[in-house]
Amino acid sequence: MEKVSEAATGAGFRPRVLGHVPADSGSIPILSLSRKIPGRAPRILIAAGIHGDEPAGPHAVLALLEQFAKGWESLHRLQVEIVPLINPSGFDRRERHNVAGTDPNRTFGSPAPPPEIRLLMDDYRRRPIDLFIDLHEDVDTPGFYLYELAPDLPSAFGPHIISALRAAGHPINLSPVIEGMAAVDGLILRTSRNVPRYFRQGAPQGLYMKRLGTRRTLTFESPPRLPLPDRVAMQLLALQTVVDLYTR
Ligand SMILES: [Zn+2]
Repeated sequence: MEKVSEAATGAGFRPRVLGHVPADSGSIPILSLSRKIPGRAPRILIAAGIHGDEPAGPHAVLALLEQFAKGWESLHRLQVEIVPLINPSGFDRRERHNVAGTDPNRTFGSPAPPPEIRLLMDDYRRRPIDLFIDLHEDVDTPGFYLYELAPDLPSAFGPHIISALRAAGHPINLSPVIEGMAAVDGLILRTSRNVPRYFRQGAPQGLYMKRLGTRRTLTFESPPRLPLPDRVAMQLLALQTVVDLYTR
């Protein structure tokens, strides 16, 4: 976490500690990084590490921060917020759930969320987020795929992301059904006409952001069976493609 703070400061981000959560190693801070630019640029939020056994997201965030000063020109034009590691107690244990055995990504909007999610919910409500990107991995997938909540199919970013990854030689999950949902060429798309119903006990973060008014949310899923550097490269290329499209 010190490495992330250091890289963030070097990249011009302001680190904030939203609060502390319990873990095996004691109490761990939940960090939020922000980089403000003058004017009314849209605000992007990048979140990683909500599932502790999906390390490519947090590693991609660290790589992004380390590269930020010398690249990522399109991202420089946005207000950027990053939550580099949502579930540090799960990350320590290399487990999906947090130290209390809860899957934090099913608790957004619930009346009694776990402490890491309570801190984020309180923080997110304070300003609108225009674009939300959630970095995940999926042990079952042979290749990259993603979820997107977009206004409609013609404006979806997903097909462009898949093209970019395919062109770079990364494998894509081509199954017509992924996680029980219809998928086309690695994309599970939801538009305003088929937003999934909100769970009473709490929702994944993408759905919660949608409920708060975020117009576009994307969730990337990389395959843990490949080496970590390849998965980090997939996450970064997908992110770069989205930001380039969004600022074009
Ligand atoms: Zn996940």
